[in-house]
Amino acid sequence: ALVADNVDDILSTIHDQFTLDSSTLFKITKAFLREVSDGLSNYGHAMAMIPTFVKGVPNGSETGTFLALDLGGTNLRVCEVTLHGDKTFSLRQQKFRVSETLKTGEVTTLFDYLADSVDAFLTESGSPTTAVPPSLTPNPSRDMVNPLEEEEDSPAVPLGLTFSFPVEQMALDSGILLTWTKGFSAKNAIGKDIVKLLQNAFDRKHMHVNCVALVNDTVGALLSRAYTSGGCILGAIFGTGTNGAYVESVANIKKFGDSNPAVALGGDMIVNTEWGGFNNSRTALPTTPYDNKLDRESINPRYQAFEKFISGMYLGEIARNVILSLIDAAPRPVLFGGRASDALNKQWGLDTAVLSEIEEAWVGLGRFAPLPGKEDEDEGTRLERVRGVVVQRLGFADSDVSIKDAEIVRKVCSLVADRAAWMSGCAIAAVLVQTGRAHLAEEGASENAAKLRDDGQRIGVGVDGSLVEFYPNFETKMRESLRILVGPEVESRVNIGMAKDGSGVGAALCALVAIKQQ
Ligand code: ADP
Repeated sequence: ALVADNVDDILSTIHDQFTLDSSTLFKITKAFLREVSDGLSNYGHAMAMIPTFVKGVPNGSETGTFLALDLGGTNLRVCEVTLHGDKTFSLRQQKFRVSETLKTGEVTTLFDYLADSVDAFLTESGSPTTAVPPSLTPNPSRDMVNPLEEEEDSPAVPLGLTFSFPVEQMALDSGILLTWTKGFSAKNAIGKDIVKLLQNAFDRKHMHVNCVALVNDTVGALLSRAYTSGGCILGAIFGTGTNGAYVESVANIKKFGDSNPAVALGGDMIVNTEWGGFNNSRTALPTTPYDNKLDRESINPRYQAFEKFISGMYLGEIARNVILSLIDAAPRPVLFGGRASDALNKQWGLDTAVLSEIEEAWVGLGRFAPLPGKEDEDEGTRLERVRGVVVQRLGFADSDVSIKDAEIVRKVCSLVADRAAWMSGCAIAAVLVQTGRAHLAEEGASENAAKLRDDGQRIGVGVDGSLVEFYPNFETKMRESLRILVGPEVESRVNIGMAKDGSGVGAALCALVAIKQQ
């Protein structure tokens, strides 16, 4: 337990543990770059740097209609995506529940369910699917053909599968499952080709659907942001977990070896970093006792180390650990008169969404946005709102929570979330440095600026996930560390935008690439 005579001493210790100075940010980023290089050189690293066989990014002129299937989030999603060729798209989708039985049963049963879901989507959509072969011209209407109006030998409907589990990819349309995550454990799947499993299920049901591409959700975010904004170099997820994919030069993917056909083709290839597994050795991560507790009690101790500092699955739990230590502080409790609530006593009892809500109550965003003309709120009003959220969401009686408690809880939430955002900025900075678009400011960013790639140009980054979408000021905080790391000039050119419907649109774009390459 925390021991100190003075509440301010206790709080300032926690503040120092969670606040990263610039030398720590540089240390993290340099270690990140080393692990990027290791992962590109050899197979088997936790930060796996998986080549995706996607060789380019779209520019918004692509057209066609495709099916997309998305497995890996909370729901199974089937969508039909039409790319209009003018950076816009339309999308129709249906969600299906994946029961625990399916997640943990035979893998063929799970994939039969995927095929059935696609079948149900195609049947229920009323008009048969309008999926058409892609057109490379920017005029969609001219090339629209309904395959079901054609002869029997019309091409099968192309489908892209977004599959957000670790997969070692061998080609655009083949990849072997390395391990299940996120509560899935279907039998006889590990080591199998995911595309074959799905295609076999379609074939068993005599469905005229062809799975042509296997896509990670990070790649989907990158492709869809590139399509809607005209260019993108990095796709990053900050949701339940965190991960990123970026455009790398094939020449840098040393582990391919000279005999790999990809090497002869040269050019670029999107690499899925699996950066959630960065620094499992924790030599560069600013680990606190609260992080150690979380890790020890997690289902995968010592794995996904970076992710455990950053993503939505963990931030609430880190904050819960800090809050409990303040409740238990000696010689006097610092919070709630020494009493915890049921929610606080339960592992995972504090959802990251609650941290977000506390922050919104403090800054006056979301449902707490002040009425026009009433923006000048005093601190008391804002803290009273925070107190309301603490009472409601942490499950206390109104009289158990003082304004001072609210103030401390609010500070704890900010410390945990700010650290996450700052560390996310390290990952983005490392990708900029790795791809020659930035130098680490420590090493003289300004003097070297002339030698940078894409000098003076906008640098596109597509992001997705509830944390970056909803946590107040997550991007602002991420930019604070980015600015320190790469300097304000480069930082100001980084254009961060949400990759809307990334998994659907990304899968469609990947299916298009696959067909072009066939
Ligand atoms: P997924 O990554 O599974 O596709 P999301 O991007 O929605 O799904 O991320 C879910 C995670 O985000 C959960 O860990 C949840 O705690 C967290 N989360 C949900 N809502 C919010 C919110 N408003 N603010 C911050 N985090 C949130």
